[in-house]
Amino acid sequence: MNAQSAILALVCGLATAFSVQAQSPSATVFQNVRIFDGKSEQLSRPSHVLVRGNKIERISATPFPADQLAGAVLIDGAGRTLMPGLIDAHWHAMLVRPTPASALAADAGYTNLVAGAEATDTLMRGFTTVRDMGGPAFGLKRAIDEGIVAGPRIFPSGAMITVTGGHGDFRQLYELPRVIGGPLSRMETLGASMVADSPDEVRVRVREQLMLGASQVKLTAGGGVASPHSPLDVTTFTDAELRAAVEAATNWGTYVAVHAYTPRSIQGAIAAGVTCIEHGHLMDEPTAKLIAERGIWLSIQPFPDEMANVFPPGSEEREKFQEVLAGMETAYALAKKYKLKTAFGTDILFSAALARRQGALLAKLARWYTPAEALVMATGTNAQLLAMSGKRNPYPGKLGVVEEGAYADLLLVDGNPLENVALVADPDRNFVVIMKDGRVYKNTLRK
Ligand SMILES: [Zn+2]
Repeated sequence: MNAQSAILALVCGLATAFSVQAQSPSATVFQNVRIFDGKSEQLSRPSHVLVRGNKIERISATPFPADQLAGAVLIDGAGRTLMPGLIDAHWHAMLVRPTPASALAADAGYTNLVAGAEATDTLMRGFTTVRDMGGPAFGLKRAIDEGIVAGPRIFPSGAMITVTGGHGDFRQLYELPRVIGGPLSRMETLGASMVADSPDEVRVRVREQLMLGASQVKLTAGGGVASPHSPLDVTTFTDAELRAAVEAATNWGTYVAVHAYTPRSIQGAIAAGVTCIEHGHLMDEPTAKLIAERGIWLSIQPFPDEMANVFPPGSEEREKFQEVLAGMETAYALAKKYKLKTAFGTDILFSAALARRQGALLAKLARWYTPAEALVMATGTNAQLLAMSGKRNPYPGKLGVVEEGAYADLLLVDGNPLENVALVADPDRNFVVIMKDGRVYKNTLRK
């Protein structure tokens, strides 16, 4: 048994301990609901929604005839809001709960089980899909898809790809110098991040992630907050390296997303053909204009002030975080001014406490957007970004919308989130039904 299958066996054997028992009837009917469909900024008239298998089969303004209800589980919405499951476009399923030290040092089986427990909690917060922007999430994704662990759909990037010293290089200085072709570092054998220092090495690492099942590829084009070695201002990959990644991903039918905060790193990535900028908090006006002109996606996060507490007081990481936070107001203002294709994500790392506030971070968008704009972003718009994975999309049906034929990823909300977006900040109380892929994972209305 190799290490990977050992981990999987461990997950298979023990995961039922924390899996939420899902009910999977042949059909479910939501009666008398008002629909937020993930696109429109208005609720529908009172409606009835029939889910069969894992898809929304019919939406009707009138109740379904009795013969269509035979064998279906009936949920009386009583005028509540039915909406698409939420999507977090920047998540790290394997790195939410561990500290950086534990992520590196702990047994991989343990790390996978912790990530499985977190995945269940993520789903129970109403996030039915995440776009994973770095980390060895392939085994977790498989266990979730097979119904072994309850969790969201995962669009995995696999290892984030970085340069020597770049964001995501968590090696210790004593591990230098690296011998090209020599043994891999711990973070690399785990599949958390991979170092690549030439176009050829980038091609190898990109193709490896694609072979493992990545739905998109993630490179770190500039400095980052949580990295021990990269200053925030640095630009990392060369143009030739970025182009090699873009070519390999494009040849494989998908796209490259890059971590980039600064105008220089963003502009360089766009010149090399990347599809999506992750973060962008330090962008300036010419950069926003360029993003708009080229139709590039901006996957930006409403970081909370308290995220600073993840980093020790007086540490460089904490200082870098404050610099990013200082750019956030301008970045969101520019995103709105130039009507950038903007995705919502949280990028919560290394903190179980912050993860519990995932919905509160979505509600924080109310600082810049109407509740309806924020919720459209976290559902229908985020799903458009997911669809950029093309044929590498692991869930190729419609996501992020309530319409006939779409995947049945649905939340029944006690109240109207288009009037009060804060409802999503308290999912325990306000999401009375959570359905993913046609399965009911939570239903507090059941007698
Ligand atoms: Zn991230």
